[in-house]
Amino acid sequence: MLVRFWGVRGSLPAPQLSSQVRSKISAILERLTPEDIESPETRERFLAGLPPWLFGTVGGNTPCVTINLDDSPEVLVFDAGSGIRELGNAVSREKPNPSQYRLFFSHFHWDHIQGLPFFGPSYDPAVTMDFYTPHRDIESFLRGQMVHPYFPVHMDSMASKKNFHLMNDVVTLKGGAISYKKMNHPGDSYSFMVNDGKHRFIYATDTELSAADFLKNDENTRFFKDADLIVIDCQYTLGEAIEKYNWGHSAFSLAVDFAANWRIKHMVLFHHDPTYNDRKLYNILQSARWYTERMNLRGIELTLATEGLEIKL
Ligand SMILES: [Zn+2]
Ligand SMILES: [Zn+2]
Repeated sequence: MLVRFWGVRGSLPAPQLSSQVRSKISAILERLTPEDIESPETRERFLAGLPPWLFGTVGGNTPCVTINLDDSPEVLVFDAGSGIRELGNAVSREKPNPSQYRLFFSHFHWDHIQGLPFFGPSYDPAVTMDFYTPHRDIESFLRGQMVHPYFPVHMDSMASKKNFHLMNDVVTLKGGAISYKKMNHPGDSYSFMVNDGKHRFIYATDTELSAADFLKNDENTRFFKDADLIVIDCQYTLGEAIEKYNWGHSAFSLAVDFAANWRIKHMVLFHHDPTYNDRKLYNILQSARWYTERMNLRGIELTLATEGLEIKL
């Protein structure tokens, strides 16, 4: 399966400010020497050697992650934050365009649904959209953000065929099965696990990890143990997580402990705080790696979620 990231911020879209762009440009110029601009090759080498927080950005869109299962033309979409708009743009360039989307919603906080009205394929009559969540009232929740005075276009204007599903069991599709688990978040959120028979992927955003998530009971073990990849809420530093106790999000170090507890092979830090700049986020990644070394939690691969990231399992 192929995992792709279209939106990785939590809470609110966080576009780059011009002051941030200016400070990146001046930091790059400070590093530049006359030899670096001698030829196209030296320029390329200089750019390739810049740290990722200077030459690029983590991205400012809210959560949207997709899975393409092997040998299936369908697109599985996890949450419809503002990142889903870019997914719509990208698929419009694909030939043939996908005609079946299955959207799984962790919950209905704005940052997880606000991109849906801007998802191009949903206005295409040749497209079928299947919506899933274990939350009741999925249809009214999604319709509710597309009514006056919040939005000028009603959901009925989306010409795609739409099916709404209350998830109360495993969803089995050609090429894989999707199960869910309730997590600790105000109003509840759900994580999803995709099993294609070869690999297990977990999408676990908007969760404040607690002792219950570490318990080695049957339910936890079945869901988390030995997963190949987890995309997990790492919104805060440890200090901030203590200050924001009960806000429904986790510190990156607790997420690392959690992944180690369940022997998960690869963890992606996700749902970045909108107030953290690129440099701070890469520092958090570095601290998380340092933490695994210090705590002797070797063997966990750590990646920072960035827009455009792709991981093949
Ligand atoms: Zn969120
Ligand atoms: Zn939330």
